[in-house]
Amino acid sequence: MSNSEICKTCRGPKAKYNCGICSECSCKKCTHFVEDAFTYQLNVPAELSHSQYCHACFQEHVERPLQEYQQVAEEAREVVVFLKNQSKVTRLMDRKSAPLVVKDCDDEEDALLKMSFQAVKMGHNALIDVEFKNKKVINGSHKKIIVDSTAIPTTIDKSRSYYD
Ligand SMILES: [Zn+2]
Ligand SMILES: [Zn+2]
Repeated sequence: MSNSEICKTCRGPKAKYNCGICSECSCKKCTHFVEDAFTYQLNVPAELSHSQYCHACFQEHVERPLQEYQQVAEEAREVVVFLKNQSKVTRLMDRKSAPLVVKDCDDEEDALLKMSFQAVKMGHNALIDVEFKNKKVINGSHKKIIVDSTAIPTTIDKSRSYYD
């Protein structure tokens, strides 16, 4: 058996998975598979953009950022959203932050989650003046809609009801 098929973590055989960071081999049991992580994060560092890691590299480089990401992503789902045409409701809210801009999102929900993620990272809990712009993209015979969006991140008192 070639040495390259020995798992660097448990020294077991059939280590067919190469770590994205150190390139060494791991068996299935010792490999950390990371799918669709950091989707909403801007500027994902190279070491976090792989889909599999050996145990040591995962612990050293990935585990903590992944936990932080998941925490922010969870809070992003709780962000309160007001559209531009709801300015009656939002007129007294703080508009000091620069507008967020996202481009070429899959749909409106994707755009909202990306902006919400940024808002949470800035310490905010709401998006106001949200606007969407749908763009038709033609790729050969394939047509699809992609979405650009802007919003102002702000902080609101979530215990209040803004719709009354
Ligand atoms: Zn192993
Ligand atoms: Zn590794």
